[in-house]
Amino acid sequence: MILESERRAVVEHASELAGLTPGRTGNLSVREGRDGDTFAITPTGVPYDAFEAADVPVVDVDGEQRDGRMAPSSEVPMHSSIYRREDVGAIVHTHSPWATAMAVAHEPLPPVHYMIVAVGTSVPVAEYAPYGTDALAENIVRAMDEADSTASFIENHGLVVTANDLETALENTIHVESLARLYLQTRAAGLEPTTLSDEQLETVLEQFESYGQ
Ligand SMILES: [Zn+2]
Repeated sequence: MILESERRAVVEHASELAGLTPGRTGNLSVREGRDGDTFAITPTGVPYDAFEAADVPVVDVDGEQRDGRMAPSSEVPMHSSIYRREDVGAIVHTHSPWATAMAVAHEPLPPVHYMIVAVGTSVPVAEYAPYGTDALAENIVRAMDEADSTASFIENHGLVVTANDLETALENTIHVESLARLYLQTRAAGLEPTTLSDEQLETVLEQFESYGQ
């Protein structure tokens, strides 16, 4: 079976989407290495726990399905276009509610808490384009590049997070969701969120690099 370990990772972690995104709106993928031509992605139209490795679609960076008994997520173009443009090993996409509230408000997330450094120093908002289009992936990659972030909200849609591996992408999805919640709850309380300075963020990055979180 091609991409066996990547497909097993999809099977093992897909159910974690259930707590993050309504219905079956989330999807995730694992690439063959950080610059491989193929990736394993969650199938469309089935519950997150109702498939096994042989079912998991394997798709190439041009968006063509190469293997797997089930059809891939309708967001294949988002994943394949990001992989074509960026050396990343995994992508997680959700409509998680707090992140999506930021996306609805077209509001980038500033560095209100030190955990932001898991993805960069802010989370930008990618311009809207219809789901499943190459244009949307271009907007996402542009927003991430400009903000130097591995996460981006997508206008009136949701959140996308990239990482070297799937565990990190899922963990960072949870971090961004929780930071978006903190930010919006502070605003909802009628308070003005404060932000960390560049110098403070620099220190956190050094700490992350030397002893992790
Ligand atoms: Zn979506």
